[in-house]
Amino acid sequence: MTVITDQSPVKFKDELPTSVEVIIIGGGVIGVCTAWFLAEKGVSVLICEKGRVAGEQSSRNWGWVRQQGRDAAELPIMMDSINAWEKISEEIGSEIGFKRQGIIYLAQHESELEEFEKWLETARLHQLDSHMLSREEVIDHINEKPGVWKGGMITPGDGRAEPFTAVPAIARNLQRKGVLVRENCAVRSIDTEAGKVAGVVTEHGRVKAQSVVCAGGAWSSVFMGNLDVKLPQLTVRATVARTEPSPDFYSGAAAGGGIAIRRRQDGGYTIAPGGTNEHFISADSFRYLFKFLPVIRASARSFRLGFGDDFIKGMLPTRHWSADEITPFEKTRVLNPKPSKNGLAKMRAGLRKYMPSLADVPFAETWAGMIDVTPDVVPVMDEVAAYPGLFLATGFSGHGFGFGPGAGRVMSNMVMGGQPEYELDRFRLSRFTDGTPMVPGPGL
Ligand SMILES: Cc1cc2nc3c(=O)[nH]c(=O)nc-3n(C[C@H](O)[C@H](O)[C@H](O)COP(=O)(O)OP(=O)(O)OC[C@H]3O[C@@H](n4cnc5c(N)ncnc54)[C@H](O)[C@@H]3O)c2cc1C
Repeated sequence: MTVITDQSPVKFKDELPTSVEVIIIGGGVIGVCTAWFLAEKGVSVLICEKGRVAGEQSSRNWGWVRQQGRDAAELPIMMDSINAWEKISEEIGSEIGFKRQGIIYLAQHESELEEFEKWLETARLHQLDSHMLSREEVIDHINEKPGVWKGGMITPGDGRAEPFTAVPAIARNLQRKGVLVRENCAVRSIDTEAGKVAGVVTEHGRVKAQSVVCAGGAWSSVFMGNLDVKLPQLTVRATVARTEPSPDFYSGAAAGGGIAIRRRQDGGYTIAPGGTNEHFISADSFRYLFKFLPVIRASARSFRLGFGDDFIKGMLPTRHWSADEITPFEKTRVLNPKPSKNGLAKMRAGLRKYMPSLADVPFAETWAGMIDVTPDVVPVMDEVAAYPGLFLATGFSGHGFGFGPGAGRVMSNMVMGGQPEYELDRFRLSRFTDGTPMVPGPGL
């Protein structure tokens, strides 16, 4: 398996119906998992994906299913999410690639250990199995360059899954349960009747629905902008590589010293330069600058600014279109940024310095993804006040893969008008406009 692009074959070709109960915009982990829980409730669902199911972030990520280091408001949802991954994996099988092999954060400095200790207070509130590791205990788990790490933090119950295959496998399973999935099907806009959502306009025609969920990842802000709904969201490029099969020196995932690794089901490792976020300047950078200042300050060491290939295009005002026009969603079927040369060099240097078993193992494939980030690095999961019946599930800010089933459960419940199972105030859309101070979630 390799990374999914617009050259990958179209595999989901269901005919568009005239109407369904719920339409989901976006076939990433969030859209597909929302459909999973709606289907469990017997609701009829159509997923429209402009390119390929999981073609963007949901197949390009590291595959960490992580409770460790989560924002306090996300943690209870995430704890249910990882249990849901386990159940989905039992039902679907090896394509999910789910295993609980633990996640370790490694520390070289006292200040990092202090940060971990601080977060453990949140873990303890929820009886999570996270705990600190001494220098010797780190070596018991990862015996690479013994002694280089002062200590660490581990969550043994954390997991991993296989991004290239997991979400498409869930989508195929959903089709067998009657959920309709259509690739190469951009949603251009929504239809309204009597001030309420009545359906969507796709590039292939209209479909009626009582509710619409926008789970458009990095495109959600553009989609909402066309409806005059403000959603501050910026994108950052993150570069990833996978190695050839290599010795199994640690079966979980770990990060430290600016390098992140995860054991893969195929016997290789997924590698990334931890904490490198490259934002390419666009009109939105200026539009949302003030909202993002707290998070830019908090992540100043890892934040890089650059000019992307589409710099000029990114500065143009393409915020509005009519439903019979070709939209930005049809012009870019799958966001497929080039991996960063610096990022790849940083990975190789990090492996040589900290993970000698992988020092010279070739990269079998390299790729990059565009992460959608909100000003407080936690998602939006809410109904849009201006359009009753339109729901937003987006801005998962680099940690939505593990959170997917949890978010899917939240959204399915919200769409069906159920009592919320969690405290969702932190995920309101209105926090960006009602004067709420932006408090970034943990950058762990
Ligand atoms: C390099 C990288 C590493 C990461 N590592 C991790 C990790 O280890 N663990 C973790 O939990 N998270 C990780 N993440 C984050 C995680 O991948 C994302 O948060 C998650 O996949 C977001 O899912 P999504 O469904 O919201 O968005 P996406 O997967 O981006 O899906 C959105 C989909 O919507 C479609 N779409 C958009 N607009 C329209 C439209 N108008 N009509 C039809 N379709 C539309 C897009 O084509 C896209 O396929 C990482 C992300 C990246 C890029």
